Amino acid sequence: KKHGASAPEAAGSAFVEIHRRGLMLVLSSPSGAGKTSISRALLARDPLLQMSVSATTRPKRPGEVPGVDYHFVSPDEFNLMVNRGEFLEYAKVFGNYYGTPRGPVEAALSGGRDVLFDIDWQGTQQLEASAPKDLVTVFILPPSTRELERRLHSRAQDSHEEVAKRMAKAADELSHWPEYHYVLVNHELEKTIPQVEAILQAERLRRERQLGLHEFVKALREGQ
Ligand code: 5GP
Repeated sequence: KKHGASAPEAAGSAFVEIHRRGLMLVLSSPSGAGKTSISRALLARDPLLQMSVSATTRPKRPGEVPGVDYHFVSPDEFNLMVNRGEFLEYAKVFGNYYGTPRGPVEAALSGGRDVLFDIDWQGTQQLEASAPKDLVTVFILPPSTRELERRLHSRAQDSHEEVAKRMAKAADELSHWPEYHYVLVNHELEKTIPQVEAILQAERLRRERQLGLHEFVKALREGQ
């Protein structure tokens, strides 16, 4: 393979391409810890990162865009997708079903693009079992319970009943932090966002994700 360096890694040195397999970046946290804001910032800044759009049986919230925030489906449709093996993982959260469609993720990874997941601990455990090599998991902790409650209340779309339900679930979600590779406390978004970006940048450079390194180094040694 001597058809010019296209990957930035290869630029200026040997004429052998280094391909990178994409990675799966999971962000989990109790609702209200700031995960959505972090995800938005990462996606806006990084053209190689794309969001995994989940399917859900939960009703659409005002302002949510079908196909962008979620694929909103009926319980019957969801069941069909489960039976057809279309999900990489799925779980029941707050009484509704949520699942990650397999196709877009596989296409991205083999194309050297990374996928960002906003999924809970149940989904993360399933990915850990089925695709551990491609997986990088990050748990976001809120700075305090009071702050978590404040953030949940300020999210006006959710009813009081919904907020209470999510506060109860937060404790359960919190207990799973030791299952994640990285753990961050989200004091300030301006600090947390670059921290997650640093994780992504470093993980991209892992030797195992870079295909063609042997050939690249061989070419270097041959003086190309
Ligand atoms: P929300 O209803 O607030 O959008 O999401 C509720 C919870 O479901 C969040 O903790 C979110 O991470 C989780 N979730 C969203 N999509 C998926 C998915 O595809 N799989 C799993 N396992 N959890 C999901």
